[in-house]
Amino acid sequence: MSEEIKTNAAPAAAPAAAAARPERPARPFAKKRFESRRKVCKVCAEKIDNVDYKNFQFVKSFTMESGKILSRRITGTCAKHQRQITKAIKRDRNLAILPYSLPKK
Ligand SMILES: [Zn+2]
Repeated sequence: MSEEIKTNAAPAAAPAAAAARPERPARPFAKKRFESRRKVCKVCAEKIDNVDYKNFQFVKSFTMESGKILSRRITGTCAKHQRQITKAIKRDRNLAILPYSLPKK
């Protein structure tokens, strides 16, 4: 009787471990969904000392299609360069190089 319990207890423990294992391969899959890439400041990466308003094609890349300035949180620019970019965008807007806003399509 006692032997029978022992044999029953051992297989009962094994399926539990086997059942817990299949969850593991699913985890890296779930992990990938939240994997975040390190954002790098575009201005620092291109080694530009000062953001120039005349380089509007570069400055434009920091605006949305609607003309809004993209936040640091989204573009990953550093504080110093974000300040320069906003200044350049506002200058370009005043010079009618960049739009203040564009209508939604
Ligand atoms: Zn920077």
